[in-house]
Amino acid sequence: MLTARNITKNYSNLHVLKGVNITVHQGEIVTIVGSSGAGKSTLLHILGTLDTPSGGEVWLDDVNLTALKGSLLADVRNKYMGFIFQFHHLLPEFNALENVCIPGFIAGTAKSAVRERAAFLLETLGLKDRMDHKPKALSGGEQQRVAVARALINNPAVVMADEPTGNLDSKNARELHNLFFELRDKFQQTFIIVTHNEELAPLSDRQLVMKDGRIVSGNAEENGALEN
Ligand code: ADP
Ligand code: ADP
Repeated sequence: MLTARNITKNYSNLHVLKGVNITVHQGEIVTIVGSSGAGKSTLLHILGTLDTPSGGEVWLDDVNLTALKGSLLADVRNKYMGFIFQFHHLLPEFNALENVCIPGFIAGTAKSAVRERAAFLLETLGLKDRMDHKPKALSGGEQQRVAVARALINNPAVVMADEPTGNLDSKNARELHNLFFELRDKFQQTFIIVTHNEELAPLSDRQLVMKDGRIVSGNAEENGALEN
């Protein structure tokens, strides 16, 4: 379970996050929507430990992620968090299988086990015949599915996705979104998805609406229980 408590983020006198509380349960698919500049990416980066809050804490089960630093933080991030971005950021000189393996190698898992899981994930995502293709030989939808497999290689507790469908046409966007649900059903995988896609955002377990640095709807706990 990922829990954010009273998260604030300031850039000098700009208050980007103004006390955000979130609890995301295992196997939950949460979408975060809101107008540009509302603080969605900043929040996602803080939940994923890519950025540090000015105040508040992020907990993964009983570990206070906000208290971790340096190589320990990097290890925890690589092992427990998966990331998917609008642009896939696949390494062009490596094929699909190799791209998926990289975070597994960084985690220090046995190479044969990483390769086996990478092949299994690519097969699950319908890319069995594309494993030895370099990114430029793949379609946009295929590239993004490789990025999804890469995000899942270490069996992360949570996958953070920032506009994952932003660069896809509507058919591929729907397919990718459906894939998140398949992965949840198969592996109890948790997803937190920032999206501008108005068709897909409501198709989640919970849609959080951000406005001006706060969650203004979708969060039962925000309206009382956690206030102190
Ligand atoms: P969203 O993802 O909802 O569009 P962001 O989290 O990207 O919003 O940004 C929220 C606000 O924080 C914006 O006003 C943005 O300009 C500002 N911001 C984000 N990152 C920085 C930064 N590194 N330095 C200063 N301001 C920032
Ligand atoms: P996104 O499209 O994911 O919302 P942005 O394009 O807003 O991302 O921001 C990209 C990067 O630039 C982020 O690392 C963010 O922290 C930084 N950034 C955004 N707004 C500002 C700003 N006003 N000043 C400095 N850095 C910013």
